[in-house]
Amino acid sequence: MLVQIERRDAVPNLPPLTEREIALKKVYVGLRKVGGLFYSGHAYGTLRRWVWSTLLPERILNRWRPYRQGECNRCGMCCKIVLHCPFLQEDDQQTACRIYTSTRHVPPPCLSYPFDPADLADVQRAIAPAICPFTFTGQPEYPTIGGALKAELRQGIARQLARIRQS
Ligand code: SF4
Ligand code: SF4
Repeated sequence: MLVQIERRDAVPNLPPLTEREIALKKVYVGLRKVGGLFYSGHAYGTLRRWVWSTLLPERILNRWRPYRQGECNRCGMCCKIVLHCPFLQEDDQQTACRIYTSTRHVPPPCLSYPFDPADLADVQRAIAPAICPFTFTGQPEYPTIGGALKAELRQGIARQLARIRQS
């Protein structure tokens, strides 16, 4: 899946995909990912990334971002784990995603990877011995998603109580 690959020069002669083509390819990817749940442990990592990158507020989803180092080297490996993503374009030297730069079409999980160490570890396991060069150093106040959600809930309740006391 995912990645920061957006070199349009790797797809110089391809016409833009139509809305219908993009929709059909997404349906195909979705079906293959669901099928992957039956034979690939990585599919669960994909599901985790999809669920959290779609549902979590940005301040929780991106809480590890300040501790993330490294850059995508555009190897394209993570776009070929459960299936070869039909949006991935590559030749001997370069890779590109045909929808990564479209804010409308890029899948949220592709933008958020790696959103925490577990996410990185999941992809790293799947592409080994190749290496995805991201690392994390340090950690946020609430490293786990559960902890961050509980803290958010506590803060929300405290704010409500403060408002009630003031009124
Ligand atoms: S949509 Fe683009 S970034 Fe996401 S997996 Fe496919 S090729 Fe990779
Ligand atoms: S595996 Fe890592 S370095 Fe390679 S394309 Fe994906 S995010 Fe980039």
